[in-house]
Amino acid sequence: MTLEHFENRIEAVAFCRTPYKQKFGIPRQPGLVDFIRGYVELVPPYNHIDAVRGLEQYSHLWLLFSFHENLAQGWKTTVRPPRLGGNEKLGVFATRSTFRPNGIGQSVVKLHGIRQHKGKVQLEISGMDLLDGTPIVDIKPYIPFSDSITGAHAGIAQEPPVEVAVSFAALAQQKLTILDNQYPHLAELISAVLAQDPRPAYKKAKDDPKRYQVALYDLDIFWYAREHGIEVVDIVDAP
Ligand code: SAM
Repeated sequence: MTLEHFENRIEAVAFCRTPYKQKFGIPRQPGLVDFIRGYVELVPPYNHIDAVRGLEQYSHLWLLFSFHENLAQGWKTTVRPPRLGGNEKLGVFATRSTFRPNGIGQSVVKLHGIRQHKGKVQLEISGMDLLDGTPIVDIKPYIPFSDSITGAHAGIAQEPPVEVAVSFAALAQQKLTILDNQYPHLAELISAVLAQDPRPAYKKAKDDPKRYQVALYDLDIFWYAREHGIEVVDIVDAP
């Protein structure tokens, strides 16, 4: 092997199950919506309880994963981070953009437990910013003494994003009442997701009459960006 050439076949060791059924609306970093559970399900030949023996001693995990839905679009040398209003470009390696060489993402998530279900090994997690069905290429314990750096600088991402107010119109409130048994914490999930204002940065500056939709669980959530914040107007079963 030379310094110029390196190849390594990477495959999924697991797949992640989350309520996030489309990219639009998924929190832009882990921990921004921290109370909703998902799970990571190991696949053969890694689907063995011994492969995670000892992991239960850790409260958090690193998930390394593939931005599989964006792989076909390749990578870009520079990208426009939403934080900069979509106007300014930064180098791909100076951002957490999904359009990167190898398409690898990394997220810290909370580990709630490890279970065996119908012969599958599942890690119950929360805080993920991953699309449902995301291939996980590695799992590692989070080690605070080394992974958490006091006083670290984070450029344009020093502070968490400012949240916007979210309200529910009468029809959406009725639907929440009907759906309460089937989807516990649905109102909280919708509020937490939309408080991040998932619209593209260039839209936020303008008067915006568009009706938006995000897909959570098997539901489509419809909403508008009003002057006073985001208003959810309807919740329907996804087709
Ligand atoms: N925390 C990770 C990182 O820093 O590598 C991901 C950050 S990235 C900005 C988060 C966004 O990736 C989400 O808001 C979602 O739109 C997108 N995303 C999540 N899972 C994806 C997938 N499997 N394929 C493509 N995009 C995905």
